[in-house]
Amino acid sequence: MKKNYSNIFSLCEKIIRKTVDSLRLGKIVALPTETVYGLAGNAYSLKALKTIYKLKKRPKKNPLIIHYCNLKMAKNDVLLNDNFIKLYKKFCPGPITFVLKKNRKSKIKSLANANLETVAIRFPNHKVIRSILKKINFPLAMPSANISSNLSPVSALDVFDEFKNKINIIINGGKSKVGIESTVVDLTAKPRILRPGIITSKNLKRFISINHTRKNFEIKSPGLLKKHYSPGIPVILNKKPNNINYAFIILGKKYKMQSNYFNLSKKADLKEAASNLYKTMRKIKKSGYKKIYVMRIPNIGPGVAINDRLKKASK
Ligand code: AMP
Ligand code: MG
Repeated sequence: MKKNYSNIFSLCEKIIRKTVDSLRLGKIVALPTETVYGLAGNAYSLKALKTIYKLKKRPKKNPLIIHYCNLKMAKNDVLLNDNFIKLYKKFCPGPITFVLKKNRKSKIKSLANANLETVAIRFPNHKVIRSILKKINFPLAMPSANISSNLSPVSALDVFDEFKNKINIIINGGKSKVGIESTVVDLTAKPRILRPGIITSKNLKRFISINHTRKNFEIKSPGLLKKHYSPGIPVILNKKPNNINYAFIILGKKYKMQSNYFNLSKKADLKEAASNLYKTMRKIKKSGYKKIYVMRIPNIGPGVAINDRLKKASK
């Protein structure tokens, strides 16, 4: 039976206007991006930021990514540098986040960046979020639209499952194409990847040099090390289940399909696999399985990001 969701809307002029009005009043809305769905609020409004942390039950020490339509507005809030410009030209708008020094004149409330001297910024590439960013004169603080430590949502219904009617507007923009969170790269010193994503270190190395040491990693990436991306049931890595009541996530053609098997990509394409990861884990949980087993995923290209999320999901 088709259910009606009073807070899920598709994109139209009227809903854009309503969304922009809500954001101006410091209210929170859920918006699609190409990575995952986000919980958006005015980054210059303390009221909006407090609501985001409260709704998500997010620890205050975990800073938010700030989203812009273009460079012009970003310049008010962060200090740009050469490495940033190189990557911006190549990958933006797109699934990559840059940690930069905060501009002293920035109006971003320090709650958004956990009192750090840096701010993480992104230029998302999805027509819904872009059409909204174009109509406002403030950037959007926007973490993934899930309760802290849960899986990120990749559809409007996933957001509804997380927050039910606690959010007045959820805009439906289809399934998020990338399907996992952005690559986060710290550009305040020698560039370093704080969170792997679909834009890989190999992709970045074509334009800038990357530091691979993990020294000071914890300080540089608050909120990245604890349990995260959890489907709410145990996840067991690199192992096949011996019971059909347990789900098995597979890749490629190594295993013959069975009813409890879920293939991330029949072609063993790691980008496709990343895009199906959260969708598949949510589906497994909803189907009532009590455990998820996962076959070994090659740790190359987008596989690095998949393994990063799986490892945290298994904690
Ligand atoms: P999420 O919004 O949940 O996708 O996660 C955003 C992640 O970006 C956080 O967990 C932080 O680790 C990272 N991040 C955001 N702002 C900063 C910052 N100023 N410095 C370092 N990492 C940041
Ligand atoms: Mg998140």
